[in-house]
Order: sequence, then C-alpha cells, then structure tokens
Amino acid sequence: MRIFSKILRQLIRYLNGMINIYKNKKRGIKFVASMTESPGRVKRIRQLWDDSGDPRDPFASVLITPLFASKNTLKIIRNWKEERGTEVYFDSGGFWVQQGKISYRDLYPALMEFYKKNQWADHYILPDNVPVSTDSPETVEKKTFETAHFSCMFFHEMPDNLKPKAIPVIQGHTYSQIYRAVSSYINLGIKYFGFGSFSTSGNNQNINQYDSNAETRLNLINEFTREYGIKIHVFGVGTPPVIWRLSLNNFFSFDSLGWMRAAGYGNIFMPLMPGKLCTHNNIFRPHISIDDFERIKRITNHKCEFCSNYNRLSKSRINRVMHNLSCILDTIDHIRKLSLEEIKKVMKITSSKYLYQEGQK
Ligand SMILES: [Zn+2]
Repeated sequence: MRIFSKILRQLIRYLNGMINIYKNKKRGIKFVASMTESPGRVKRIRQLWDDSGDPRDPFASVLITPLFASKNTLKIIRNWKEERGTEVYFDSGGFWVQQGKISYRDLYPALMEFYKKNQWADHYILPDNVPVSTDSPETVEKKTFETAHFSCMFFHEMPDNLKPKAIPVIQGHTYSQIYRAVSSYINLGIKYFGFGSFSTSGNNQNINQYDSNAETRLNLINEFTREYGIKIHVFGVGTPPVIWRLSLNNFFSFDSLGWMRAAGYGNIFMPLMPGKLCTHNNIFRPHISIDDFERIKRITNHKCEFCSNYNRLSKSRINRVMHNLSCILDTIDHIRKLSLEEIKKVMKITSSKYLYQEGQK
C-alpha cells in the first residue's frame, strides 16, 4: 500500500512537471530585435553583448527596414544570418509612411523590387499604411482598406518562393476593418500575420501606446484567427509589462526598439517593470532611487554587467541600452519559468497598473 502511494505521488509530480512544461511553452513569446540603426551602433551593441559573456542571444531574430537602412547595416545583418544563423525579418517601412518619409504608393514598387532582388531573409512584411490617432475615421477607413487590398495584390505579385514567408499587416480600428484584413489574409492561405494599429502619441505620432483599445483589437484578432492556427506578430511595442500582457494572450512574437529608445530618454527597464528615469538631471521629474533600484533588482533576480554600477548606468546611455536589452530577455525568461501567481506578485511591486483584467486567457 505504501509503495503504491509512493508511486502515485511520483506520478502526480511527473504529470505536474509535464503540465508546467506545456504551460511554459505556451506562454513563451519571441523577441525580435529591431536593428534599423547605423552600422557603427549595430556593431557596437553586438560587441558589447558578446563581451558581457551572457550566453543568451538577443539577436537570434532581428527586424530591419531595408529601404531605410544603410547598405552597410544590411551587409552586417546578412553576415549574421550567414555566420550565426540569425533569423531575419524584412520590415515594409509602414512606419516611414506614417512619418511622411515616403508615400504609400511609392512604397509598393520600391519594396517589390527590393524583395525580388534580396531573397535571403526569412520573413517579408507586406506594405502597410498605418493610421495614426489624429486621422479622421474616413482616413482610417481609407488606409486600412488600402493595406488589406494592396497586401493581397503584393502577395500575388511576389515570387512564388517568397510567398510562404510573407507577413501581411492587420491595420484597423473597427471590428469590420479588422475582420476585412484578417479574412482577406486567411483567403491567401498565409499563416503568420502582423498587427500594427496602436494609438499613437509623440510629436510625430511615432510612439505606439499599448492601451485598452490596442488590447481590444488584439483580442478581436485572436478571436478571428484562433481556429486557423495563425501566428501573430505585434509591431513596435516592448516595455516589459506589455510583453507580459502579450504573452497572456498567446501572441507569437513582437519587435521592439523600446529598450534603445527608453535608454536615450534616460529611462531604465527592470524585468516586468516599465522604464523609470535614472539620470537625476531634472529635479522636476520622478526618478528611481538607488535603493529602489537595488530592491527591484533583488526581487526580479536581475543581474547584468551593465548595471553593476548605478552611477555609471545613470550617466551612460549605452549602458542603459544594454541593461534594458538584458531586462527584455529576463522578462521573457520570467514569463517562461515563473507561475502566473509568481509573476503577479512581482508585478504588484513593479507595475501594478498592468494587472487589469488578470489572467483572461
Ligand atoms: Zn542590468
């Protein structure tokens, strides 16, 4: 009898372990590092990371906007692909249309020509026309219609061998706009979609806001695509708590420049914590104190070479860039390894406002 209960206990432990592995797998999310930067900066960031001795690879998947990247940056990324097996996403440049740097009509032929000549990437994002928060409903309708319509045309015109690598972008604010995009792309037989319709802010409407509107739209996409086994990539977000929100809803991947941009503004991430100012050069804005910084480091179990000295972190932009990158990877590791309860416990301290509508999926 005793042996029987011992075997039963072991069996239960084994099953629990298997369930945890399954749950963890399900909650993982892939980070794609946005690398449309100058060649010097791309090289320096990689070098600093390699020298740090951290065995994780934040550049295993990278996204680059080829029409707006320098030739040398493209060359570096191609080398990474050939020598290190880096997975490469070619971004369409929708962001640059949004910024008025190129018209949507000019983007289509330029991108088609580039894609035809450069067939070495793993993923090809189709051209999109990104609505911004200041657009009228009529303009949003026009842009979202164009994105769905021209994405389908673009897909048909692409070389056949690139078709399985196409990622069309869902742009839409309303139920019918999102439904139109999703159903058009499902009809093409594509299995990997991107989403990019966030509220925007900033001087040039260039900062994506992850808010309840974004989450409603993402949930709609989940609803429309779930039964087709479609993977969803989320563009241009990536503060640590948002990564957790995305993972809750089982999104497959995201790309982010946030770690670099936040560092430029003097902000530091922590695992599962959004950016907090650490430069101490503006008395009118709240900063993270060294005591809080050390306390949250302990709570989140974070350690990296770039933040071992708070003073240096506060003074050096590149140290903040690298530390923020490390915190993105830590956040993903926490999502994979910690239970939902453990994560919530940490987030109550680091970013409680992101705990709304907990555990909906
Ligand atoms: Zn650090």
